[in-house]
Amino acid sequence: MQIDRITLTHVRIPLNEPFRISNGEVAEKDGIVCAVESDGLTGHGESSPMAGSFYSTDTPESCWKQLVTQLGPAILGREFENLDDASQWIDQQPGSNFAKVGIETALWDIEAQRQGKPLHRLLGAERDHAESGLAVGLYDTQEQLLNTIAKYLPDGYKRVKIKICPGHDIELIKAVRARFGDIPLMTDANASYTLADLNVYQKLDEYGLKMYEQPLKGEALEDSAILQRAIKTPICLDESLETFQDLERAAELQSFKIANIKIQRVGGFRNALKLYHRCRELGLSIWVGTMPELGIGQAQGAALSALDGCDYPTDVEASRRWFQDDIIDPFLAVKNGLIKLPETPGLGYKINEDKLRKYQIARQEIKS
Ligand SMILES: [Mg+2]
Repeated sequence: MQIDRITLTHVRIPLNEPFRISNGEVAEKDGIVCAVESDGLTGHGESSPMAGSFYSTDTPESCWKQLVTQLGPAILGREFENLDDASQWIDQQPGSNFAKVGIETALWDIEAQRQGKPLHRLLGAERDHAESGLAVGLYDTQEQLLNTIAKYLPDGYKRVKIKICPGHDIELIKAVRARFGDIPLMTDANASYTLADLNVYQKLDEYGLKMYEQPLKGEALEDSAILQRAIKTPICLDESLETFQDLERAAELQSFKIANIKIQRVGGFRNALKLYHRCRELGLSIWVGTMPELGIGQAQGAALSALDGCDYPTDVEASRRWFQDDIIDPFLAVKNGLIKLPETPGLGYKINEDKLRKYQIARQEIKS
């Protein structure tokens, strides 16, 4: 596997509604599309950190810089034994996982095309679909939250995840239960609570939720273990699980019961699979989260989510859910809560070059 050329396109697409979580808000989605050419095949990946650096310190601008000035030129012309060799090399490079994932996942697309397999089969999935869950952000009023859920529930989403933060938690869950009854429901706090709020989670225990995603700060694994012991509902870790070592430590401390694996956060499929297999060994439940990404990243998430042991619906939603437009053809669709996975080799979605040009902020070719 030799890397012959990389074309990076930074695109920006307006969101249907602002995406607001406990520590920030965005109105547009930035993504860096990485088209990688190797041995006559072109694979696509997406580097998709949240703009505004409120999920992690990475931004579209910082990842662009790393891809254009470091990782892109470093990998160009390099010959690798195979995909695993290339993925491992990328993992060992300096820089952010959110930058590396763009190139790493493009190589999986190339390898799947070379083997004539759909991406999810290359990853080891037997299922031909992924279950999709609806995620809703924070809103100014309860009515807006309830209306958003009501708007999308008819698409059959398999569960609803609502964002919470201190002061906007129990009342929201109470209202959702009152309006929608016993739907599968979970919370995501994006690390906005501390152990001082333990009683909030004890009260939430009364509402029969599937899980509490990332109640505490990413590094607060000891505190998370204390919280987990004090409540009935399983804790799911997201921000905490950046590396394999994080997973080992959190498992040892019993800080959680469910892992949210994000391909972006861990730097690509190789690391995502490593975490996935270790979680299976440890008997931990798994599901696949998103940033959310544009179509390429979302399609990758759906593919990973088809693996056995991904016991909960993914955050991957229909293209139309968040974005006014998307760069893939066809758009990602959710029917009866399911995303049907393509059976064509590789990613299985075409990249719409006209859309790339329409939404382009910057473009850079890296070639010899
Ligand atoms: Mg999360």
